[in-house]
Amino acid sequence: MSELNSPYSKRLLAYFMVAVIIVLGFIAYKNNEIKTRAFAVYLEEEQIGIVRTEEEALYIIEEIENNLSNTYSAKCILDKDLTFEATHAKDEELSSAKELKSTISSKLDFLVVGYTISIDGQDVGTVKTEKEAEDIVESMKNQYTSNVEGDLKEVEFLEEVKIKKDEVPLNKLTPKEDLFQYINLGADEIKTHLIEVGESFWTIAKMYNMGVDDLIEANPDKNPERLQIGDEIKLVIPTSLMTVVTVENVEYVKDTDYETIVENDDSMYKNQQKIKVEGEKGQSHIVSNKIKHNGRLVDEEILEEKVLKEPIDELVVKGTKEIPKTMATGVFAMPTRGRFSSGYGSRWGRMHRGIDIAAKTGTPINAADGGKVTFAGRQSGYGYMVEIDHENGYKTRYAHCSKLFVSKGDRVYKGEHIANVGNTGRSTGSHLHFEVLKNGVHVNPSKYVK
Ligand SMILES: [Zn+2]
Repeated sequence: MSELNSPYSKRLLAYFMVAVIIVLGFIAYKNNEIKTRAFAVYLEEEQIGIVRTEEEALYIIEEIENNLSNTYSAKCILDKDLTFEATHAKDEELSSAKELKSTISSKLDFLVVGYTISIDGQDVGTVKTEKEAEDIVESMKNQYTSNVEGDLKEVEFLEEVKIKKDEVPLNKLTPKEDLFQYINLGADEIKTHLIEVGESFWTIAKMYNMGVDDLIEANPDKNPERLQIGDEIKLVIPTSLMTVVTVENVEYVKDTDYETIVENDDSMYKNQQKIKVEGEKGQSHIVSNKIKHNGRLVDEEILEEKVLKEPIDELVVKGTKEIPKTMATGVFAMPTRGRFSSGYGSRWGRMHRGIDIAAKTGTPINAADGGKVTFAGRQSGYGYMVEIDHENGYKTRYAHCSKLFVSKGDRVYKGEHIANVGNTGRSTGSHLHFEVLKNGVHVNPSKYVK
């Protein structure tokens, strides 16, 4: 077959060979192009790695989110956009899953879904779940609804309290108990002081520069008079961020006060009064709404008041008559001026029933209090002596006088000059012997005169 070896056939073969080479080359090229196809991963503007498929990167993100969600038992969401750009890369240029994971983790902030409690428009904290937020609000209420007087008619907050779904950085999520405490006390923690030896509310108040009243208010459970070593004293008055308003419907019997009416009587002395009719409290049956803020009564709305018993007014009679000067005041004055020379009590085996005041003969003796003279004269042992009945259970005696200026039956006023100091009777040296008798029994005059 000469045709095959013809020049025409040879040329044709050459064309065919070229075509085969081109096709093979193209296939090889195309094959390589597909093999190196990859994606550059961008986090916002920054390229953080190269992956073969987008799914690899997305899977890593999902894995990180899941890990965090499990760790914090809250739903975590990536807060930045991840974008991809088609590129080519050889296997050794690709980022490993491990590398990519740690790069993304280090560069990403995760937001968590949480529930924020706001009070009067002010966010006070975020917890993981809506249930937790509701529990906190419920616990706040329960503190003041579990121990109400009468029937609980209403419970509400004075402030506008809201729970809203939120996305917050992970570190802004607060454990439920902590947020409750913060809302309940108005602070993260209450500063305290441990009682040491010798400390009292007064020394602590001084130490922290605060008022004693504030300390007492901040520690209603502590008795200021009975602090124990080691007692924990709160230094701040807790102020709740929420105010639970309760309206409690109560019924009770209340004592009502009586009035006191004063009547004048000119047959009685000015310093005298007596109760003619004793006052008696009345009683009323009350139905009311007690309005409390965090358990503290702030208002009471009386709905019904039925008088069970009217109060009885007290009638007091007061004297208007001038008090006579000779009437006892009840307080004794020192009867003379001199030197205290002997006290009341046992002396030389005998009972000394008065006190002795040494003074020169002729020194004036004055009545210790007002009263009536029941003796004025000489008596054995006493010498010249005056006895005054003060008509209030007390009598006084003034002995060893040199001169008397009153007689039995005279009325004398407090401080009246009744005698002079002398040395009569059984006496050694000029002095006044002064006795006080209470209901007929001698008592120590030193306890009555100063
Ligand atoms: Zn005496």
